[in-house]
Amino acid sequence: MEFIKYKSTRGKETGVNASEAILKGLADDGGLFMPEKFPKFDFSLEDLKGKRYQEVAYEVMKLLLSDYTKEELMDCIEKAYDEKFDTEEIAPLVKAEGAYFLELFHGDTIAFKDMALSILPHLLTTAAKKNGIKNKIVILTATSGDTGKAAMSGFCDVEGTGIIVFYPKDGVSNVQRLQMVTQKGDNTDVVAIHGNFDDAQSGVKKIFSDKEFANKLSENGIQLSSANSINIGRLVPQIAYYVYAYVKLLESGNIATGEKINVCVPTGNFGNILAAYIGKQMGLPIDKLICASNENKVLFDFFENGVYDRNRKFVLTSSPSMDILISSNLERLIYLSCGSDGEYVSKLMKDLSVGGKYEVTEAMKEFMKDFIGGFADEKKNFEGIKSLYDSTGYIIDTHTGVAFSVYEDYKNATKDMTKTVIASTASPYKFADSVLEAIFGQKQDMGDFEVIDKLHEIGAPDIPRAILEIKDAKIRHTRECDSADMQKEVEDILFNNRR
Ligand SMILES: *Cc1c(COP(=O)(O)O)cnc(C)c1O
Repeated sequence: MEFIKYKSTRGKETGVNASEAILKGLADDGGLFMPEKFPKFDFSLEDLKGKRYQEVAYEVMKLLLSDYTKEELMDCIEKAYDEKFDTEEIAPLVKAEGAYFLELFHGDTIAFKDMALSILPHLLTTAAKKNGIKNKIVILTATSGDTGKAAMSGFCDVEGTGIIVFYPKDGVSNVQRLQMVTQKGDNTDVVAIHGNFDDAQSGVKKIFSDKEFANKLSENGIQLSSANSINIGRLVPQIAYYVYAYVKLLESGNIATGEKINVCVPTGNFGNILAAYIGKQMGLPIDKLICASNENKVLFDFFENGVYDRNRKFVLTSSPSMDILISSNLERLIYLSCGSDGEYVSKLMKDLSVGGKYEVTEAMKEFMKDFIGGFADEKKNFEGIKSLYDSTGYIIDTHTGVAFSVYEDYKNATKDMTKTVIASTASPYKFADSVLEAIFGQKQDMGDFEVIDKLHEIGAPDIPRAILEIKDAKIRHTRECDSADMQKEVEDILFNNRR
């Protein structure tokens, strides 16, 4: 097996081991870590037929996490994908209306973030051990709703770690908010910020790049790390489920060996779809990557005309986890598309932070031609959810709904009948009021938990533990701050909270 090292998308940091990249989150030059090359699968997909999710995950992840021993990696995988998931399959593939829905929401917090965040704490604590880190590792995370809870759930009471989550006060669903503010654990903190997700994400990035602050923390035996999808430790585990889905399609005889599939992914920060793309580079037979956006359709416009422009109104939608105007992981694709030219990436990212936009060259556009952008507005999204329910009884959430609508559009426009895996990123229970509004054509005048019962009544599967848990849980987190004061808040939590 080839030994894979990592380098920064901005070119100044190279030769970094996987475990070091996971510990750091962001490279010193502000870039994101990328493998120096993509290893090819050293197994045949046929041979993975019948294997457990954990075994498939190991085969894929071992290729990219070269400095983890087999024992270390297996241990991380087994601890992550265990009874926390409500099905042994971990990520079941469900066929409905001619598409294959890859249900990535069977973990602790019923959104796809669990797929990566249930393993990240283990990868990170293993990395700390391997690298002789004695400091306490504090995770700072901005969330558009799902990452925060999934990260806290993963890091809750993990020795030697702490976690602070920032979420946009008015930008998350009720269930998402309740899940976060009731989070248990002595090492978890949650702060609502007066701003949107991009403000939260920019604030966190700013704290990370403050060297003086890092020194001050270091003097106190603390170092920061990130659980956001900029961390390569998030991206690598996500490749595994695309491989798993492909193997399931082989097993069921729905595709033949080597047959190409399309994937359609409801996208925000561009992490999930990028994982599929990396899988493709490693040997997974994927043809098109359909990138589905909601009304915040920066990515759609980008794939149309090569201009990334965040100068537009930020729209709050019923798919809040995709309400994002700065898709951080796109930087990784940009980097690949310009021939790994770190200086050029730095220039574009500077354009983005100064003027809010950048433009890529024709050659770069050509490089990205496997990506097809699409978007669905609220009306379209709701119509899609309803039509799928009416014709099959299958209930999808509002994020998956965006992907489903975009997929239907794509199919109608191109007549491309390639078998397609749609990443199903959240349980409908997490966004029950919007899902009911879609199905009944109007807002239901019901309380937070009545909508849950109603959804169950009309055919959604058993109410997940994640929902039952928050019903009577005590609210433990009430902090809020302006987005400009996030660093102060971190200091207060770390230094004045006697923690
Ligand atoms: C985070 C999230 C997304 C977007 O995923 P990215 O990797 O950020 O593109 C989509 N749907 C749900 C439910 C999410 O939680």
